[in-house]
Amino acid sequence: MNKILDKKYPYLSNFFKTAIEQKRLFHSIILYGNNNYIQYAMAMEIARQLNCLEDGREDCSCQNCRWIRENKHPAVMTISKIDNKTDSSKTVISEEQINLVLDTLVNSSDYHRVFILCDAEYKTLSQAEVQDYNEFILTGFILPKEKDENKYWIPKGINTGCFSTVAANAMLKSIEEPSDKVTFIFLTNNKDDILQTIVSRSQAFYVADSKNSVYNVAFFEKYFEQYPKFDKDCALDFAQTLYSYQIENNLEPTFIIDCIQYYLTQLLKANINNSLLVRKIYNDIEKTEKSKKMLNAYIKEQTVYENLAFYFSK
Ligand SMILES: [Zn+2]
Repeated sequence: MNKILDKKYPYLSNFFKTAIEQKRLFHSIILYGNNNYIQYAMAMEIARQLNCLEDGREDCSCQNCRWIRENKHPAVMTISKIDNKTDSSKTVISEEQINLVLDTLVNSSDYHRVFILCDAEYKTLSQAEVQDYNEFILTGFILPKEKDENKYWIPKGINTGCFSTVAANAMLKSIEEPSDKVTFIFLTNNKDDILQTIVSRSQAFYVADSKNSVYNVAFFEKYFEQYPKFDKDCALDFAQTLYSYQIENNLEPTFIIDCIQYYLTQLLKANINNSLLVRKIYNDIEKTEKSKKMLNAYIKEQTVYENLAFYFSK
C-alpha cells in the first residue's frame, strides 16, 4: 500500500489492503476523526487499490493509478458542496447532486466507482493546516483543485449542516442495495454528524491523529501465545492487564483496542494462506470493532475488556 499511510496507520492500511484483496470491503465506509487530510488520502488510496490494473503496489504506473494520483480519474469523484456541483446551491450537497451521481450508476463500468463525500472549502491555510497539507502531499496524491491565488482546497468533515437529510436519504437505497463495483466513503469528524441510517449500514473507522498511532503490543503479546483460544485464567488476566496499562499510561480505551486490532492485522498478514485462521482473525477484528462501539456508548472499559477477553476464550 502507500508507505506514509502504512507507517502512520498500519492497522487501517493492513485492514483495507486485505479486505480489498479478499473482496470483503463494505460498500459504505465512514472515516472519522480530526485529520480530514489523512482521511482524504486514505480514501484515495482505497480507490487506487480498488482500481489498480496490476498488483496495487505503491509505485504502480498503470493508467488507473496515475489518474487517481492526479485526481482526475473519471470513476473516483469527490462530492462536496463545492465539488461536482450540478446546481446553484453553495452551502450543501444537494439532493439533485446526489441523484445525478446515482443516475450514473445505471450504466455499467469497467471501473470500481468510488464516491468520496465530504465538506470542503477554498481558503488560505493556517499554520496547523500547512502541516496537515504537507503530510498529505507526501502520500503522493493531489487534492481536487490546485491552489488558486493562495487559496487551497481543504477537505472538511461532512455533517448534517452540509449534507441534508433529504440528500442523505436519497443515497440510502444505493447503500442498502449496492452494486458490486461501487464504494461510498464518508469523511467526518464525528460519526454523530452522519445520519444514523447511513452509519448503521456502513463500516466505520476511527482515523487517529498520526502522533497517537504508534501502537504498542508488547504489554499483551504474551497472552496471544494461547491464540486462537485463551483459557479462562489467561482471559481474566488479559482483561486486567489491558485496564492496568490504560490507567498507568493515561490512555484512551479506544487506543488500547486499536493496539489489539493492529496486532490482529499483523497476525492476518502472517497467516494469509491459512484460510481457516484468516476467517477467525476477521471475526475477531469485527469483535474489536464492536468493543469500540461499546466504548462509544459509554460502557465501562473494564466491562468492554472483559467482554472481549471472554470472547477470546470461547
Ligand atoms: Zn496500478
